[in-house]
Amino acid sequence: MSQPPAHASDNCIFCKIAAGQTPSRKVYEDDEIFVFHDIQPWAPVHFLMIPKMHVASMAQVGPEHAGLLGRMMALAPGLAAEQGCNPYPEGGFRMVINTGAEGGQEVHHLHIHVIGGPRPWLKG
Ligand code: AMP
Ligand code: ZN
Repeated sequence: MSQPPAHASDNCIFCKIAAGQTPSRKVYEDDEIFVFHDIQPWAPVHFLMIPKMHVASMAQVGPEHAGLLGRMMALAPGLAAEQGCNPYPEGGFRMVINTGAEGGQEVHHLHIHVIGGPRPWLKG
């Protein structure tokens, strides 16, 4: 197994998933982005997109992250379709970024939820 990168945050579960140290059901990976299925899906399709570098939340995002976040957003439609989201406009998907305790964030490594597939969903 590979070592976590130097910028990884100790004891961050998503840093460990991105480094392959904690198992996950991988959807996609490149040099800077890792995508995996949520362990408690709300819907037929529910995956998480994370930067490999540790960024705690959207609250820490600045102009230096614009390229990375743009690349993450731009990956989502293709992965959503591949994973079984039906075509827009009858189908579609939802993208959610919970931020901070009041924003409902439980894991403090920035992640984009991509949720979709035929309804009903468990929530949302
Ligand atoms: P949030 O409330 O936005 O921080 O969401 C965290 C999400 O991470 C939840 O939907 C969890 O089900 C998911 N999650 C937590 N641990 C894991 C894990 N080890 N593998 C996959 N998904 C996870
Ligand atoms: Zn992390």
